[in-house]
Amino acid sequence: MGRQIPGSGWPGNLQDSDKEEEVVARVYNFSAGPAVLPEEVLKEAAEEMLDYRGTGMSVMEMSHRSKAYETIIKEAEADLRELMNIPDNYKVLFLQGGASQQFAMIPMNLMKNRVADYIVTGQWAKKAYQEACLYGKANKIASSEDQTFSYIPDCSDLPVSEDADYVYICENNTIYGTKFKTLPNTKGKTLVADVSSCFLSEPVDVTRYGVIYGGVQKNIGPAGVVIVIIREDLITEDVLPGTPTMLKYKIHADNDSLYNTPPAYGIYICGKVFKWIRKQGGLEAMKAHNEKKAAILYDFLDQSKLFRGTVRREDRSLMNVPFVTGNEELDAKFVKEAKAAGFENLKGHRTVGGMRASIYNAMPIEGVEKLVEFMKKFEEENA
Ligand SMILES: *Cc1c(COP(=O)(O)O)cnc(C)c1O
Repeated sequence: MGRQIPGSGWPGNLQDSDKEEEVVARVYNFSAGPAVLPEEVLKEAAEEMLDYRGTGMSVMEMSHRSKAYETIIKEAEADLRELMNIPDNYKVLFLQGGASQQFAMIPMNLMKNRVADYIVTGQWAKKAYQEACLYGKANKIASSEDQTFSYIPDCSDLPVSEDADYVYICENNTIYGTKFKTLPNTKGKTLVADVSSCFLSEPVDVTRYGVIYGGVQKNIGPAGVVIVIIREDLITEDVLPGTPTMLKYKIHADNDSLYNTPPAYGIYICGKVFKWIRKQGGLEAMKAHNEKKAAILYDFLDQSKLFRGTVRREDRSLMNVPFVTGNEELDAKFVKEAKAAGFENLKGHRTVGGMRASIYNAMPIEGVEKLVEFMKKFEEENA
């Protein structure tokens, strides 16, 4: 960076200050998470790093009770509400512990009858199910494990338990690349959804859910924040005995996510991403952009003689695209050569093998186009 830092008389601070502006080389990052973020957001955060809008400090150094921070978190919530069209009878909570903490927090707060139904469509749903088993009777009412989670089971008429407190899904399966295109018929029971890897990727009807939650490091911001959107009637004092204070939705709802120090810097970045999405045209625009990107990749996979997608066509995710050559050595060669060409993190999840391209909101179309060009070339060379 060539910019003089005002007042920075510290030794070490000025080391780079007389260099010319550095050329920043960014790769195409296909990581499943933490994942690519909009460059505009990263640049803006960099510009505000030392002095956030005249406060003379970084957001990282700021009291979470300060006026400046109050504006940051309030605006983040308002922008998210606007983007997702969140009704007034839903609370938005910015919490910690990642998506995985919710695997316990959900049963602790919602299992009034100590019964819940789980649809197991991948590792994350399975982990949530296993955690719920610690707190009550969790029923696996559907699963796609029989075919390595490569499809979404028919959920139109499942044996939903009479006394189920909720029905749980993982809406987009990050590892396997499947997505619920229609929500399950919960027969009137509350739907709880982990949307970590499809958060803000397309419009959503919040009223169909009791709880929507996700870790933000897939599509929204830096790891360390989990967003929970929860219908108010589900937030009660009536939680399982022994539920820690920090794991009660009510304590966070009553305190507007400021019961204790929130993941303040992470929320600030999420807020910038919400504004970026609004500027792109909101969730309708995101959906169009994501469909276009995914089509480029899936269309190529469908006609390729070397690569093939691993997911049943109608259940394909717009966000995570797993594919294989059918030959492990060739897969490894592809990942290695792709990396050398500037396409990072294409290795599939360790439980699936092969490749996976995660093409979240912030992945530009050129990233996918260039990847497909590279795949074509690889196919020719390895035919
Ligand atoms: C990544 C992921 C998780 C786990 O998130 P953590 O924040 O690491 O706990 C859970 N569910 C889904 C769908 C994910 O993609």
